[in-house]
Amino acid sequence: MRVLGIEGTAWCASAALYDAETDSVLIESDPYEPDSGGIHPREAAEHMSEAIPAVVDAVMTAAEAEYGADAIDAVAFSRGPGLGPCLRTVGTAARALAGALDVPLVGVNHMVAHLEIGRHQSGFENPVCLNASGANAHLLGYHDGRYRVLGETMDAGVGNAIDKFTRHVGWDHPGGPKVEAAAADADPDDLLELPYVVKGMDFSFSGISSAANDAFDDGVPVERICFALQEHVFAMLTEVSERALSLTGADELVLGGGVAQNERLREMLSRMCADRGADFHAPEPRFLRDNAGMIAVLGAKMARAGDTLAIPDSAIDPNFRPDQVPVTWRDATGS
Ligand code: ATP
Repeated sequence: MRVLGIEGTAWCASAALYDAETDSVLIESDPYEPDSGGIHPREAAEHMSEAIPAVVDAVMTAAEAEYGADAIDAVAFSRGPGLGPCLRTVGTAARALAGALDVPLVGVNHMVAHLEIGRHQSGFENPVCLNASGANAHLLGYHDGRYRVLGETMDAGVGNAIDKFTRHVGWDHPGGPKVEAAAADADPDDLLELPYVVKGMDFSFSGISSAANDAFDDGVPVERICFALQEHVFAMLTEVSERALSLTGADELVLGGGVAQNERLREMLSRMCADRGADFHAPEPRFLRDNAGMIAVLGAKMARAGDTLAIPDSAIDPNFRPDQVPVTWRDATGS
């Protein structure tokens, strides 16, 4: 089976071709880069309308060159969560393409795709999954036909919390890579204390963003704040991941989402897993940031399970939660 995936929940207009027979993925992406500040929903939607046709065309051209006119067996799209105007553009494109190609349409939950790509690549059977993305942060575990939310942020997504600080400092979006680079120049023995908020397996980032902004206004060197921001935020994510492993009895952890590109986060999680004898997997960077590859891979599993959408039932959902998705593509044992 070969699936055309289309992603466009916020900043990344992306199309991909997944060939399930060879397990190969071709991805074409065009990111929206705001001139200043954070992501502006109207500008992001305008970017989607301009960029989606070009990335889809590039993938379709490559697909037809390799496989001929019947290259595509299904079209999968990111149905939510995300910015409504962006999702509507992608949904319209996917419906039109599925109709024109006369193939099934598959609506993929973007957060479930962030975690399923890691499960797909690692071959793990029943991992705890940590989604560390821009607008979200969830700990998920599979039980009885659904990914259950074991813990989540009580306010901002993890990347958004970091970007809030970098906007205050005056750095361009996205802020995460700049924080990672600046933190490398700090003295690791001189940790600035910031709020650390974990409640069971939930956590909060709003206090830490504000405290980091205040520290910057008080003249604390920006490298020292970046280092402290990473240490606190990632320690919180590591603590809740360990608690989830301990309480569920799982011995596998999969990481997903754009913030998972951060080496320090991967190092902390990997060390925690090694200490407790658990396996850890983080996909390669092109599958961590928003991308259509993960949409196409999960779309193929859903299509194979017959989990497709009739056009009248294919509305987008900006608030689509991962635990709303009936998991049709895993067998009764959860594999
Ligand atoms: P979601 O997937 O929840 O809809 P999103 O659309 O914002 O979120 P992602 O691609 O998952 O997108 O993540 C983007 C976020 O990742 C941004 O907030 C960015 O600052 C952050 N990020 C990217 N690279 C790094 C890094 N090296 N360290 C920390 N954060 C990073």
